[in-house]
Amino acid sequence: MQELTHYINGEHVKGTSGRFSDIYNPATGEVQAKVPLATKDELDAVVAKAAEAQVAWGATNPQRRARVMMKFGALINENMDKLAELVSREHGKTIPDAKGDVQRGLEVVEVCMGAPHMLKGEFTDNGGPGIDLHSMRQPLGVVAGITPFNFPAMIPLWKMAPALTAGNAMILKPSERCPSTSLFLAELLKEAGLPDGVLQVVNGDKEVVDAILDNETVQAVGFVGSTPIAQYIYGRAASNGKRAQCFGGAKNHMIIMPDADMDKAADALVGAGYGAAGERCMAISVAVPVGDKTADALIERLVPRIEKLKVGPYTAGDDVDYGPLITKQAMERVKGLIDSGVEQGATLVTDGRDFKLQGYENGFFVGPTLFDNVTPDMDIYKEEIFGPVLSQVRAGSYEEALKLTMDNPYGNGTAIFTADGDTARDFAHRVNVGMVGINFPIPVPLSYHTFGGWKKSAFGDLNQYGPDAFRFYTKTKTVTARWFSGIKEGGEFHFKQMD
Ligand code: NAD
Repeated sequence: MQELTHYINGEHVKGTSGRFSDIYNPATGEVQAKVPLATKDELDAVVAKAAEAQVAWGATNPQRRARVMMKFGALINENMDKLAELVSREHGKTIPDAKGDVQRGLEVVEVCMGAPHMLKGEFTDNGGPGIDLHSMRQPLGVVAGITPFNFPAMIPLWKMAPALTAGNAMILKPSERCPSTSLFLAELLKEAGLPDGVLQVVNGDKEVVDAILDNETVQAVGFVGSTPIAQYIYGRAASNGKRAQCFGGAKNHMIIMPDADMDKAADALVGAGYGAAGERCMAISVAVPVGDKTADALIERLVPRIEKLKVGPYTAGDDVDYGPLITKQAMERVKGLIDSGVEQGATLVTDGRDFKLQGYENGFFVGPTLFDNVTPDMDIYKEEIFGPVLSQVRAGSYEEALKLTMDNPYGNGTAIFTADGDTARDFAHRVNVGMVGINFPIPVPLSYHTFGGWKKSAFGDLNQYGPDAFRFYTKTKTVTARWFSGIKEGGEFHFKQMD
């Protein structure tokens, strides 16, 4: 069986802990590789090396650092097929979806090619007699990225590209379920000219994450994963004096107004609800039609579309719509939640629990599942299911639909489908959610904007990528300088205004 490595000081390095985690082929249920789980001692040694490497990297001028990103971007493009295969092999998503995963990460690398512009400071000329002020953005030092399984390329790239371009060294701890893409990206970065030790990929579980959080050299932690872990990591990182931004789970609502184009809304719901088997933090998991007529019209359109979905392994070709879930536990959890929906009185319109595929009987597949008449007290509404399950909650009015969305503890993404500009504008203005789509179901902002949820979907300050990322990964220093030529003699005694 394949034994994966860490990537330390520019080389693949075997783990020494003797502890491993299994990596499955989610389509067959077989273990295909094992990944080493690092210890605290291994982590501390890697951080010390990263700190050494950061000194020269942080002193390299920003344009040269950006040039590494240019070469890195070109290498990602050249290796798109290989990267997509690595993503699909461990995650199970289809190849077109895996290419999208790489592409949305690559777009952040592309923004980093112009990063010197975002790393500039500010200047005030003549802020007082003979006094000028300037500020500069300096790297933090060693920072950490801790990432989830569901975007094995995109989210590590969201973390590493801005952090490295800003002059930091990064310890990347990818998901132990899908680490191979990060290991290969580290190889590509070396080929692009990144000095050894500036990006260290350390594999592991809670033990290594805790070691990162407690290591005094690590200055900042960028985390993406489930809400309970995000909250835990935020608390521990912050109490250790680190800068932390921790992005969590989601329960994204899509409101469908009676004036919406129902076919377009149904198409959008099927893609956003079932794409990637629902394992996206921006998946739509709750459809909220306004009025029974709208709700009935939607169900009428959703059912035939759902029946046409092709579920299978990524190797079965590009016409597969979605693949298996990540683990057997994930599959059993999702099926258990579907059971609870039935027990708690929701109407099961399509049932994916008994889905089986010949030749893949042990795969972690769940068929597309649709519930109608879901109410906020049910577990299928309260839990982030993270599977191919769409719940329809009927609302009597726009205000009721808006209140439902706003009362939900998560606030990652949301969408409204309507033909009415006033309603759309009102929704975008009032809703307490970080990313809003208007006739757009998965509103992941482009890479020169910025990504982040509200409420229990994010803990800490500043968003991922875009200008916020450069603020997060740098600290500001402000210099006040006075030159005495032309100003009257005598020392300043009092703290006073500079005029
Ligand atoms: P997860 O929280 O289980 O794991 C995320 C990372 O935390 C992994 O690297 C894992 O090794 C580590 N981890 C897990 N348990 C830990 C513990 N007890 N202590 C310390 N570290 C621990 O999340 P996941 O299952 O890999 O990913 C799915 C979740 O991520 C979903 O909730 C999804 O909504 C969320 N997500 C959020 C965003 C966003 O930007 N808001 C994006 C993608 C995914």
